[in-house]
Amino acid sequence: SGTTLKLISLDTNCIGFLGTTEASSSLSPLSSLPRRDVRIASRAGSGDQDIPDGIGMARLAWTRLPTADGAVPEGAAAPASPSASDDELFAGVVESLDYEVIENCAYREEQAQRSKFWVPYYVMLKWLFALLIGVGTGLAAIFINLAVENFSGWKYAVTFAIIQHSYFIGFLVYIIFNLALVFSSVYIVTHFAPAAAGSGIPEIKGYLNGVDTHGILLFRTLVGKIFGSIGSVGGGLALGKEGPLVHTGACIASLLGQGGSAKYHLSSRWVRIFESDRDRRDLVTCGCAAGVAAAFRAPVGGVLFALEEVTSWWRSHLMWRVFFTSAVVGVVVQSAMNWCKSGKCGHFGPGGFIIWDISGGQEEYSYQELFPMAIIGVIGGLLGALFNQLTLYITKWRRTYLHKKGKRVKIFEACLISLITSTISFVLPLLRKCSPCPELETNSGIECPRPPGADGNFVNFYCSKDNEYNDLATIFFNTQDDAIRNLFSAKTFHEYSAQSLITFLVLFYSLAVVTFGTAVPAGQFVPGIMIGSTYGRLVGMFVVKFYKKLDVEEGTYALLGAASFLGGSMRMTVSLCVIMVEITNNLKLLPLIMLVLLVSKAVGDFFNEGLYEVQARLRGIPLLDSRPKQVMRNMSAKDACRNQKVVCLPRVSRIVDILSVLRSNKHNGFPVVDRGQNGESLVIGLILRSHLLVLLQSKVDFQNSPFPCGPGILNRHNSSDFVKPPSSKGKSIDDIHLTEDELGLYLDLAPFLNPSPYIVPEDMSLAKVYNLFRQLGLRHIFVVPRPSRVVGLITRQDLLLEENSNSGTTELQSTSV
Ligand code: ATP
Ligand code: MG
Repeated sequence: SGTTLKLISLDTNCIGFLGTTEASSSLSPLSSLPRRDVRIASRAGSGDQDIPDGIGMARLAWTRLPTADGAVPEGAAAPASPSASDDELFAGVVESLDYEVIENCAYREEQAQRSKFWVPYYVMLKWLFALLIGVGTGLAAIFINLAVENFSGWKYAVTFAIIQHSYFIGFLVYIIFNLALVFSSVYIVTHFAPAAAGSGIPEIKGYLNGVDTHGILLFRTLVGKIFGSIGSVGGGLALGKEGPLVHTGACIASLLGQGGSAKYHLSSRWVRIFESDRDRRDLVTCGCAAGVAAAFRAPVGGVLFALEEVTSWWRSHLMWRVFFTSAVVGVVVQSAMNWCKSGKCGHFGPGGFIIWDISGGQEEYSYQELFPMAIIGVIGGLLGALFNQLTLYITKWRRTYLHKKGKRVKIFEACLISLITSTISFVLPLLRKCSPCPELETNSGIECPRPPGADGNFVNFYCSKDNEYNDLATIFFNTQDDAIRNLFSAKTFHEYSAQSLITFLVLFYSLAVVTFGTAVPAGQFVPGIMIGSTYGRLVGMFVVKFYKKLDVEEGTYALLGAASFLGGSMRMTVSLCVIMVEITNNLKLLPLIMLVLLVSKAVGDFFNEGLYEVQARLRGIPLLDSRPKQVMRNMSAKDACRNQKVVCLPRVSRIVDILSVLRSNKHNGFPVVDRGQNGESLVIGLILRSHLLVLLQSKVDFQNSPFPCGPGILNRHNSSDFVKPPSSKGKSIDDIHLTEDELGLYLDLAPFLNPSPYIVPEDMSLAKVYNLFRQLGLRHIFVVPRPSRVVGLITRQDLLLEENSNSGTTELQSTSV
């Protein structure tokens, strides 16, 4: 209307844009569409009657739903102060991604301009990227492993050399070595890449669920993640490098997709066709799978991990590409391993990469063993759930009291934990007696000789005789990979006393809980495997004692224990099972691992949610589960709108009004209303904040008159400005500088808006809206009153275009009522 617009309530507005002959003629951009598009559009909603009164915008994430008795359910509780409203908490902190194709005029113009080679080029590039993601992630994994193994190798070699003369100096050197590595890690993370802290899996899970967390896929995060995990894992903290590799893979994928890092001028234009959130989502999925495949050398495990644990949407095309990426990772890692076998990689030898081949282990099992195995599952469920709960409390406490105080506190905290970890792992083994080596042969000084068939090294630490070893040092004072290999070692000769295992379990569990949440890249797979294999082995020792006649091996129980703890904490089943089989090379144990995982997951689920879900909620990532909550069945879409006044914009708006609307709230989408020919209000679509910001910044579409303008958007804009929804991150309303004169100009929004946003009737059950929202990966849904007329029905037949095509032309069949 041209008068000052503030907030318009949608109470009297109507939906009826698509297809009404009035609307298509009043909107010049539509008249420029290819004829077929107009025809389809008019079928979808033609008619001259209005659909009355629009109502609101449904928002599903973080809608706190009251239970039947009016209380807000636990799982939906917001992380920070309970008095703050959800909008205050999350508006602006996290942002949803736009997976929907916005079929605005720019999109249609671009489609019309595409040559026939575009689709093959696009498909080919996707496969090429799948290849590059595999190679990149594989190389990153090799680099991290090489660095970690070499740093740890030097550390232990130097320490062992020094303790031959003085334990105290050896202790100091060991502590300083660890401290330096951990300091480098926490310094990189706090000063350079804050988003690289933690495993990154909750954030990636959130990303694939449709929520963008600031900074998770940046180049600096990738660098911070790689170098940070070298420091934190090399520094001997109770954490692993596998979770961070998933994040690393995702970063590599995303950076490749956007053609490199724009900030550091490392981007290339010819590959920048995957800038839309949809394409990036697919690439990130490939990256996640590649990460797991590289971390565990488990290609199938990687694919299943992506499918089961991180993605929310899955398509069969994607499955193929993910599969391909994982296979590429497998080849790259294997080639590097072969190359390193000749000793070119320093301390990184055949045992370097994570793989614990226990093929020499127990081949048969009897039904009597199922009971102790189920007990392992129960213990795993209990300890896993406890781990999730404790880490939740500690992370909350840290956030409230510690991390607010700045980077120095974070650095101090990580260094203190490093000191404690080093002290425990060095001093405790000193308290243990040494045992004679299993096979009395001449000793190399550091390790007992490996008995035939047994894996691992037996650390001669504080043992006066050469042919003795210290069982606690063997698991505590060792690299994680070697420690796990020792715990899994198959040939039973009771290497570990129950006392050592219990000491290790209690201390390592506590260390893992305390270390979780420090500002360093940290994975939970390896600590989980270490904790689980310890109690698994303990149970194994009892079984050996009680079932004397059976051929029971403690290593097998250690493996089952590891699976049970991971199942009890992360709650994965299929992917974990396959990963365990792949890393241990023992297919015979598959049914047992399945049993243990099922039991531990069931027990864990009884108490709380999985580790990643808990952590995602804590970080304010509003994940949408795959199923709606029970209470949603009794609520309608209108209930979810919470009587809000919808903030919308008129089709032709004054610049000053757009600015004031953008400043007055943090919403990212606004319905756009127009006047129909009879003066009634029509909702003609949805405009994104990010698009408004692009328009205000570029200024080329400003016009003097308050009347609609014409098409030709791509003459004035880059196609990527509108076709691929730019994230409004990076652009903010404060970056927009307009003169007084410009503020008085007008902007026609019609060509840039999404003319066909999803719409639901107000009384649709919220459960149904939830499913729609979740399954289509939506960001906004309009809630409107019940329509008064039906212009057509679309059934399966109408969607089978080819079968209905008649003499070369493709037509939609109409089924009118
Ligand atoms: P997202 O945060 O998922 O990227 P958004 O930023 O557009 O989407 P928010 O503004 O964060 O959405 O949503 C917070 C609340 O505001 C929700 O309850 C939603 O229904 C409401 N809301 C969103 N857009 C509008 C709007 N244009 N007018 C009125 N209320 C809105
Ligand atoms: Mg928002």
